[in-house]
Amino acid sequence: MNVENADHLARVRRVFHAANEYRMAIVVHMHANVDHHRPYGTREAKIFLEQLLPEAPDVVVQIAHLAGSGGYADPETDAALFCVCESSRKAHSSDRDQPSALWERRRDRQQLAEGRATAMA
Ligand SMILES: [Zn+2]
Repeated sequence: MNVENADHLARVRRVFHAANEYRMAIVVHMHANVDHHRPYGTREAKIFLEQLLPEAPDVVVQIAHLAGSGGYADPETDAALFCVCESSRKAHSSDRDQPSALWERRRDRQQLAEGRATAMA
């Protein structure tokens, strides 16, 4: 897929939304298709963070291969990974400064999971 293609992006947004609805974790091969020489870097990482990730706020989203495509030797992957790390760092520091709705939901889920673990013991 190409995140700069509005149709592709809309389709993947629906997939993320559905996975979230069913509480399914997501593993993303975020790197653009190498064979088709699709653009990849900060711009595409921002599209991922701003337009796809918000569709799955309640599940784990794992970015495969450190945002790369298997190997780890290209500056585009560095740029994309840096963008993801910065976004995560900012999100976590603001969570600590002022508890957000997201932080509250995480705590609720943790309590729910602990309740389940207790019920299973
Ligand atoms: Zn893989």
